[in-house]
Formats: sequence, C-alpha cells, structure tokens
Amino acid sequence: MIQTPEQVDLILLALPIETLPKTAPRTISRLQATGIKTYGDLLEYYPFRYNDFSITSQIGNVQAGETVTVRGNLESIKTVPTRKRITIQKAVLRDETGVIELVWYNQGYLTNTLTPGSVVSVSGVVESQGKKKSMKPMEYELLATADSKTKHTGRIVPVYPTIYGLSSKTILEKIFFVLDLLSHANESIELIPEDILKEHGLMGLQKAYETIHQPTTMREVSEARRRLGFNELFIRILSSKMIKERWSKEQTTAPIKLTSDDKKRVQEFIKNLPFVLTDAQKRVTEEVLEDIQKTVAMNRFLQGDVGSGKTVVATIAAYATHLQKRQTLIMAPTEILALQHFATISALTKNTDLKVALQTGAHKDITSQKKAGEYDLIVGTHALISAKYDFRDVALVIIDEQHRFGVKQRALLKKKGINPHLLSMTATPIPRTVTLTLYSELDLSVIDELPVGRKAIKTYLTPTAKRADGYRWIEKQIKEEKTQAYIICPLIETSEKESMSSIKAVKAEYEHLKKNIFPMLKVGLLHGRMKAKEKEQTMAEFNAHTYDILVSTSVVEVGVDVPNATIMLIEGSERYGLAQLHQLRGRVGRAEKQSYCLLFTTSNNYNPSRLRFFAKTHSGLKLSEFDLKTRGPGEIYGTQQHGYSDLKIADLSDTNQVFSAKKAVDQLLKNYSVDELPKLNAIMRSYQINLIEKN
Ligand code: ADP
Ligand code: MG
Repeated sequence: MIQTPEQVDLILLALPIETLPKTAPRTISRLQATGIKTYGDLLEYYPFRYNDFSITSQIGNVQAGETVTVRGNLESIKTVPTRKRITIQKAVLRDETGVIELVWYNQGYLTNTLTPGSVVSVSGVVESQGKKKSMKPMEYELLATADSKTKHTGRIVPVYPTIYGLSSKTILEKIFFVLDLLSHANESIELIPEDILKEHGLMGLQKAYETIHQPTTMREVSEARRRLGFNELFIRILSSKMIKERWSKEQTTAPIKLTSDDKKRVQEFIKNLPFVLTDAQKRVTEEVLEDIQKTVAMNRFLQGDVGSGKTVVATIAAYATHLQKRQTLIMAPTEILALQHFATISALTKNTDLKVALQTGAHKDITSQKKAGEYDLIVGTHALISAKYDFRDVALVIIDEQHRFGVKQRALLKKKGINPHLLSMTATPIPRTVTLTLYSELDLSVIDELPVGRKAIKTYLTPTAKRADGYRWIEKQIKEEKTQAYIICPLIETSEKESMSSIKAVKAEYEHLKKNIFPMLKVGLLHGRMKAKEKEQTMAEFNAHTYDILVSTSVVEVGVDVPNATIMLIEGSERYGLAQLHQLRGRVGRAEKQSYCLLFTTSNNYNPSRLRFFAKTHSGLKLSEFDLKTRGPGEIYGTQQHGYSDLKIADLSDTNQVFSAKKAVDQLLKNYSVDELPKLNAIMRSYQINLIEKN
C-alpha cells in the first residue's frame, strides 16, 4: 500500500482503487461497477453541484435564516421518542460565544457517533424562537481537535452523483484522500507542456483537479472545468491524429492502379448515368478515386444529407475497382437497405460487365468459395465483414450508415489478412466540433448540395385538433396525386431496438388506420420483427405501389428510397431528436414532386418551439447542431456507436473550446514529440487500447 510521500509519484493515478486504505471491499466493488478502477478515475468522478457551506461563524453571532457553519463542543445528545413512528435527536453545541440546539429526525445512530465532549462542525440554516437558536444540520462532521480541517462542512462542499449504495459523502472521502496523496507527490501529473497551457490560459492539471473537488470560490470552478474539458478534448484529438499518423505508415496496401484507359471508362460510366452528377458529387468522387490509387489505405468518411446521392459515388468507386479486377464490399445496416442498394447499383451498372451479388440472411448469391471469387461487388449487411467466405481480392470496403467504422473494424479486416481502402458513409450530419474531436483519424468528404430540382419538404406541426383534417388531406392527396405516404408510429421506448410493446402498438395502429381512417386505401405494415423475406416483400410492394400507405416503426429511418412517396406522417414526433426526424423526413422529397411532412404529437406536454424550428429548417447540419446544444451528443446518434459516453466534462457544443484544443494539439505535434513526453505517451497508449476494445 502506498502511503509514504516518497513513494508517491506519477504512477499514483494509475493505482488500482483496491489499494485505498480503510475502504470496505463492497465500496471498492461498487466503485468498480461504475467504471472507477484507478485513483485517476476517482479524480475524474466530477461533482454535479456544490453546497456552499463556506460561511463560518461563532455561535453567538449566527442570524436566523442564514446558511452557516459552526463548530463547538457537544454538550449533550439524546433521542426523544414521539407518539408517531418518528424519533428526534436533540443535541446542544457550545463554543465560547454561545449555544445552539441541533435537531435531527430518525437518526438514532447519531447518539453513538456524536458523544458528549466531542468536537463537531455542522452546516445548515439557522432558526430561532425568541432568543433560542437551533439548526437542523444539512451536514455534520466529527473533528479530531478544535482546529482540525473540515471536509463536509465549513467550505464549498462538492455533491457527487450517488453510486448505488454509496453516498456522496463516502465518494468525497475517497477523492479527498487521493488529492491529499497527490499534494505530497514529488512529480507533477501535468500532461501538456507549460508554454501551450500558458498560451491557452489554462491552469495546471493538478490545480484543476483540486479546484473542481475542493473549490474556495465558485468562480474558480468554471476555470477548472475549462481546463479539464480541454484536457479530454486534447487527449481525444491527439489520439485520433496519432492513429491517423500510424495508419499512414502501416496501412500500406496494393494500390488500385487505374490506367488511362480505365480512367476513360470511368468517365464514360459517369456520362451514361441517368442524371448529371452535382458538383459536390463530382468533387467527392474525385477525392475517393484519388485515394484508392494510393499505397496508403484510404480512411474516408463521406457525409451527405439524405438524398444527396451517396450511393452513386460508392458505385463509381466500385466500378473503378472492378476495372482492375478487384472486389468491393458494400455493407448496409439492415437487410432492406442492402436489398435496395443491390437494386439501385444493379440498375446503375446494368450496361457494364460488373457482376453484383447480394448476400444477406435471406438471400445468398454466394454459396461457395468458388462463387465468392466470381463477383466484383458484393452487397450485404455488416455481417459481411465476418463472412465465412474469403473474397478473392477485396480492395475496397464501403459501409453505409454506420458511424465510426474505423479502428476496430480495421483491426478485424487486418486479422483476415486484408487491408482494403475504407469508405464509410453517413446521412447523419455531424457538427464540425464533433467531427474534429471524434473522427479526426478519418479524411472527410462532404456532399453539401442536393441534386437540382429538389423542393424543400413542406413541414407542418399538426395540432391534435387537426388530426382528422390531416388524415382527410392525406387521403385526398393519395387519390388526386397518385402519391404514397408513410405513417411512422411513435417510439415507445428510447432503446434502439424495437421492443414487443412497440410492435404491438404499430400493429394496433395499422389495424385502426386500415379499418377506421383509410378503409378505401391499401395499407401495408412494416416493422423490425418481421422476417427478412416479409420485409423485403413489403418494401417491394410499396415500391411497386401495391400499397398507398405504409405504416411502420422507425425502421425506415435510414436510406430507404421510394421516390413516388411524397408524404411522411410522424406520430409522437415530440419524442424524437431533430436529427432523427430529419432522417425520417428524408424518406420523402426524393424526386421532383412537392413533398410533405406532417408532425403529429401524442401528448400535449412538449415544447413546440423545437418542432417549429424543425419545420422551418431544412439543413440537417443545423438540426444536429441544435440537438447537440439542447439534448447532448447522445441524442444525435443513439448512445452506443460513438463513444461519447465517456466524455465526462467536455462540451462538444462549445466551439471555442474544441477549436482551441485542436490548435493546442497542432502546436504540440509541431514542437514536441509525444515519445519524449512520457506521461502523455502513457495516456495515449492506454486510451488507444480502450478505443479499440470499446468500438
Ligand atoms: P443518399 O445520399 O441519401 O444515400 P441516394 O444515393 O439514395 O441518397 O440518392 C437519392 C436519390 O437521388 C436516388 O433516387 C438517386 O438515384 C438520385 N440521385 C442521386 N444523384 C443524383 C443527381 N446528381 N441528380 C439527380 N438525382 C440523383
Ligand atoms: Mg443512402
């Protein structure tokens, strides 16, 4: 056990919490269960608020109504029974200036801990009846001597989120113990060189930990938060950059060397597409084609709002790859989307010799190792990455609608002995601060314009009183305009998977709509628990206009493309994040016809300004920035994929903070070598190992 100051140095923060003195094994296992494994983790367990008990007074001077801390000798303490099931503990506290009565309820054990003669400090609001003063202490502590230091009273006291079975007070004790050790350590824990800290006006790391846990004024707390948030961002950004740097050295691959003839054929392919590429599509295609010809494996992240036309970019890249007789895998998050990509890509490439396979749970073109070699492009779900067949020569892997395809998947592919170029695509617009912090190991391509002729989707927040009118209007549109509509049922739970109750709800809604609201129309049903074949069939039928209306859970959220559908009705829209609503809305407006989005709500208990903002805003990026500010990053992407959950204190909506952390990283990389900064180096290593394990 580390106790003497000489033994205490940098490794202190890496010490496991099992070495905490005077700590019950149960306390340790509870801390560990919340992810607190080391002393350093304890220091990063931050208070969520503070009790200001910093005003201390002599007992004779206290005023009724003030929140104050007094200390003195306990003269007496006793438990007074009452007629109800309540007990009262009454004590008298005295100093040289006077006495005050202390009153607790139902804290019988106090008569054992606070014994007459002990020195006690209490904080609370003073009450008075005539000359007699009393207090119901909010906090108390037993002191060794009359001038002992206090922890829980007489200062600004941090309040920690309680952990099951552990009070804020216990957590505080452990954190203060570590801070005390640290104050005796002979080496600094600082990670960032002095000059960089100075330029960004940041306090030292140790000071920041001390301040956030033991502030003397509330003003300092915000300075400490700034430093600690900066630290988190700094570590992440630096880590991403180092991964990128390492990739650029290690990830060598056989380049896809396009001959001038190949390049001509690619241009011809583009010319023969049924539409003209937008400038943004051209630019991004260029970026991708350039990358795949390099010997360093591509790590590109393609962002483009719904409907911006990412699929065709992927197709062109696959086409170029096949000209060099090499294979491309395209992976989609669901079978429906895989099927749809397969259909789209097959159509786009029908006049070429590129051979496309579909490989999903329900549909398998590839049934043998031999067949695996026959195709140029294999479309499937994310399961393709661990497919049982070895594809001939995979040079390009494209992943649709999955965030943070990167570190871990790379490792997986490498294990299979391939090191392809990687392109991940997403329609979820990601605020710049987030891209910068969490994705900076990837190169970014952005499609920032929609094909010409697209009209903004007219979006209406429909009050409950207008519900019936809304339905009649949809019916009329369907009859007169021969259009189709989606009706999305509310999210029952916030979980990303569909629960049984959501399925039940969508079925009931489907029956209700079919019978009572739209008896004259053809209504279809789609949800996540249907068999893959049934889903495929339903989508195909909707696409073929067998149904006028498709009632669905939010499974149609990403990627589905039925150009004739122009109406999107979203039930319970108040429960969705705006980025998610935007995805849903993006299912319509995919051709030149005017499209509409109706927002229905299931309760009246919501803030309409969010939805109004949504109705008038058509930029996905603006919407996700709004989400980031008002609901936090988890809302934009669900909670698992992105590893934000471990951002403890940094605020990604604080643009200044993010940019200054990025600048600091650049400064560090320019003027220092991380290898020569042992503390930072150690952190980087453990951080990157974590990143790989978690993702
Ligand atoms: P997303 O980026 O959301 O995946 P898609 O690739 O599904 O978008 O494209 C949306 C629709 O727009 C498709 O029907 C596609 O054929 C069409 N499209 C793509 N690019 C263009 C373009 N440059 N001009 C016209 N239509 C286009
Ligand atoms: Mg798509």
